[in-house]
Amino acid sequence: MKIIAVGRNYADHAKELKNEIPESPVIFMKPDTALLKDNKPFYYPDFSESLHHEVELIIKIAKEGKHIAERFAKDYYTEIGLGIDFTARDLQGKLKGKGLPWELSKAFDNSAPIGRFVEKTSFQSLEAINFSLLKNQTLVQQGNTRDLIFSFDFLIAFISRFITLKKGDLIFTGTPAGVGEVKRGDRLQGYIENEKLLDFEIK
Ligand code: ZN
Repeated sequence: MKIIAVGRNYADHAKELKNEIPESPVIFMKPDTALLKDNKPFYYPDFSESLHHEVELIIKIAKEGKHIAERFAKDYYTEIGLGIDFTARDLQGKLKGKGLPWELSKAFDNSAPIGRFVEKTSFQSLEAINFSLLKNQTLVQQGNTRDLIFSFDFLIAFISRFITLKKGDLIFTGTPAGVGEVKRGDRLQGYIENEKLLDFEIK
């Protein structure tokens, strides 16, 4: 499986990092070795001194597709999840400054903790899903899919023009404002609506 991630998909987050609102989705990837499951602790990496949390909704692809039309995109996913797109912001800044790919700052081992997935039918509307992240019991990030720049269905159509989507692939759909540093000893808890899907420690 592969993990495809979308940068700058909430205008308020693009602004906080002083990035322009993109005209088409900013896409990058993480390898399967980035996954961290079952709320296992995350070990702070030795190559960063500014590790940021980015809480994101995740689409789990349910069947293979290429050149998927936006109007059929809904048939390609049945479950939504929650994850963290951990980012070594200091390293990312250096790479961006040199015009180099971000990969090392975003695709490292365990950079993609994920929780369990929820059937999409359990939501009244996919266009109004609330999600949030607490750090040490304090709310640090809060998002709603109504604020997405590019919708889930648009993303599936766009990505599948370039990359075949396969069953089990995950799409991290972007983070809202409020990204910030984590330190050893911090505890992160992530929610979709009132359901807690992530709860783990930084060690
Ligand atoms: Zn992200």
